[in-house]
Amino acid sequence: IHPTAVRRPHAITVQSPNTSYNNEFITAKFANRGSEVTVTDGHFHVTPTVDEYEFQTQRAPSKTGLMMIGIGGNNGSTLCATVLANRHNMIWHTKEGIQQPNYIGSVLRASTVKIGTEPSSGKDVHVPVCDVLPMVHPNDLVLGGWDISAAPLDKAMQRAKVLDYDLQRQVAPHMALIGKPLPSIYYPDFIAANQEERADNLIPGDDKQVHLEKIRADIRQFRQDNGLDRVIVFWTANTERYSDILPGVNDTADNLLNSIKSSHSEVSPSTLFAVAAILEGEPFINGAPQNTFVPGAIELAERHQSFIGGDDLKSGQTKLKSVLAEFLVNAGIKPLSIASYNHLGNNDGHNLSAERQFKSKEISKSSVVDDMVESNRLLYKAPQLGPKGVPIGKGEHPDHVVVIKYVPAVGDSKRAIDEYYSEIFCGGRSTINIFNECEDSLLATPLILDLAILAELLTRVKYRKVSEKKEFAPLYSVLSLLSYMLKAPLVKPGTDVVNSLNRQRNALECFLKACVGLETNTDLLLETRIW
Ligand code: NAD
Repeated sequence: IHPTAVRRPHAITVQSPNTSYNNEFITAKFANRGSEVTVTDGHFHVTPTVDEYEFQTQRAPSKTGLMMIGIGGNNGSTLCATVLANRHNMIWHTKEGIQQPNYIGSVLRASTVKIGTEPSSGKDVHVPVCDVLPMVHPNDLVLGGWDISAAPLDKAMQRAKVLDYDLQRQVAPHMALIGKPLPSIYYPDFIAANQEERADNLIPGDDKQVHLEKIRADIRQFRQDNGLDRVIVFWTANTERYSDILPGVNDTADNLLNSIKSSHSEVSPSTLFAVAAILEGEPFINGAPQNTFVPGAIELAERHQSFIGGDDLKSGQTKLKSVLAEFLVNAGIKPLSIASYNHLGNNDGHNLSAERQFKSKEISKSSVVDDMVESNRLLYKAPQLGPKGVPIGKGEHPDHVVVIKYVPAVGDSKRAIDEYYSEIFCGGRSTINIFNECEDSLLATPLILDLAILAELLTRVKYRKVSEKKEFAPLYSVLSLLSYMLKAPLVKPGTDVVNSLNRQRNALECFLKACVGLETNTDLLLETRIW
């Protein structure tokens, strides 16, 4: 069995007065260190700050189900087949030889984190990220979901053309047991017209309140039938067009609920699913780019203390871009333009060939360099200030263009071409071209698993500020700690989005370690710098 598929008991015990264990919880003290900066007459006054917190993590992972909307698509069917291949340790033949199942591409199961150094050798000790806290094993997820296409999962996998034939052959009988997806809701105005011929598995009628009740009942039934403590509801269905944000319609929680009651045309299927999950108290994650989380949906999640996360899986081009743009800007090099071209030939590409659905993707791909540009006003001019000191516009920014074309021949193997054209020393220019070929669904599947498993974990973590002496409370509803896997991370309204992949990973690592009372590695390695 590949090491990433191996199941381990929870492997870390922290010996410290700051960390305590009992049968139910791990409780750890954490000092949140920062600094406050004030500026007077161009001078920065910096005051270090520290706030004491405690984290309490329920040790036993919940028995968890993953309900995907779009389970019959490329991502959905690939996820089911690969989890089953891992669960049953299927071994298949490819033209390269024998292939074993694994979880490569999962940050949780295939990447490691440094937890300290070994005293005698001074060498770093790394453990799999999934060993820092108790987490659900992907093999244990109970899988199910909805699709507007009635194709049973074995046929859906065949249609997706992602997996090797020999694996498909072996996994097909297990896929057939998952069977036909649950009927779903289809509002043709939201996805491309070219998807219509797939839509043969629909909840009847056009009453959105009835649709909401049916989806909620599906979640409850799935939870009950499988004896689950937790269901993660995950949108991996087609990209929808953006919803208009309309005052009185979707701007507040109550308006959104009323708009569902009156079947308002601007409530999208994905928002309806999100509302259903929120009302059922189950986490909802949006793996596609559209603005499912209209302001009313966020307010509703806050009201119910339900968890939401999104938007859009960050699998290939954007992941690389968030690394490369940061590298350039942090190296003091000034990208002048970033031009990105994609072509892909799967059903996602077909849907994105329609203008309004492309627009959603364009938006989610476009903001990825914003925070890096904003952090370096040596390279990019800050926006001018208006009358009351309010910035006008965004300030100087590299030209950034995104093109996506549908080329059926390349199937699920997306091609991404990026040109980074930068200003270097004393008027020089540098051009970096990247050609990136990715098997889309094989990149996306481990991200969906990581997102679902992290979301489940975050439902088990509570916190309190030591000075307030209150009960432990759940984390804030918008799970921005999931940002590493998401292209356009949803964050607490009014706070800044972090796009830098390094910072996103660091935040996740720090958080997991804080929950067991471990300090973050500073990479200072002081002992190697002193006598
Ligand atoms: P896909 O077209 O193969 O699958 C989508 C599935 O959703 C289809 O089976 C379709 O029938 C179903 N569907 C559409 N509307 C539905 C509804 N209202 N209810 C239930 N099912 C519905 O696409 P995919 O390649 O699996 O990608 C899924 C989503 O993930 C897309 O929105 C895509 O943009 C996004 N995404 C994918 C990647 C990747 O690398 N694969 C990366 C980022 C984002």
